[in-house]
Amino acid sequence: MAAELEAYAAEVATCTRCRLAEGRTQVVFGVGDPNADLMFVGEAPGFHEDQQGIPFVGQAGKLLDKLLAGIGLARADVYITNVLKSRPPGNRDPKPDEIEACEGHLFRQVALIQPKVVATLGNFATKLLSGKQLGITRVHGQEQEVILGGRPVLLYPIYHPAAALYTPAMLKVLEEDFRRLPELIGRVNAPPPEPAPVLMAEPAVQLGLF
Ligand code: SF4
Repeated sequence: MAAELEAYAAEVATCTRCRLAEGRTQVVFGVGDPNADLMFVGEAPGFHEDQQGIPFVGQAGKLLDKLLAGIGLARADVYITNVLKSRPPGNRDPKPDEIEACEGHLFRQVALIQPKVVATLGNFATKLLSGKQLGITRVHGQEQEVILGGRPVLLYPIYHPAAALYTPAMLKVLEEDFRRLPELIGRVNAPPPEPAPVLMAEPAVQLGLF
């Protein structure tokens, strides 16, 4: 899978499916463990991400690293990507036709990585991957089962770290939602419950009744 993901990243590096190809420095495909159980999906690369080719390297990225460390994880333990792989000019919001053009790349990444839990950071990733138009304020912290990449995945919407940077109340909620991630990963990794033993009635003869 790692080799396939790498080959796919090389393919996407030259993608010109939408207008964002014109203004980008480079495609920001994703980073982390190609076999990760936990995948984060943000919105789009910003200035620093576009320069370095790595998602979440600015202030929001530093906060994401801190939140990960708080639950005993590092970047190398998870996979991090965005809905869009090329930077929108001036960090504007993604446009619907850009999301439509790029979503195939994200779905292919999910199919190759096969994460158990996908944490969507903010509105754009949450709406795309849940297939519903409910905003992040309504659905954050509420896991839901969805089919992604042909497999059941636990989708877990949380606030985008960029939104929490300067809003202490939102940061508190983000930290609380983050703290549930180990439990969710543990839940999907738990072995299925043992089937209940089938109780057979003892034949009356065996019981010495006749
Ligand atoms: S945003 Fe996505 S679809 Fe558009 S050019 Fe970049 S990689 Fe291709």
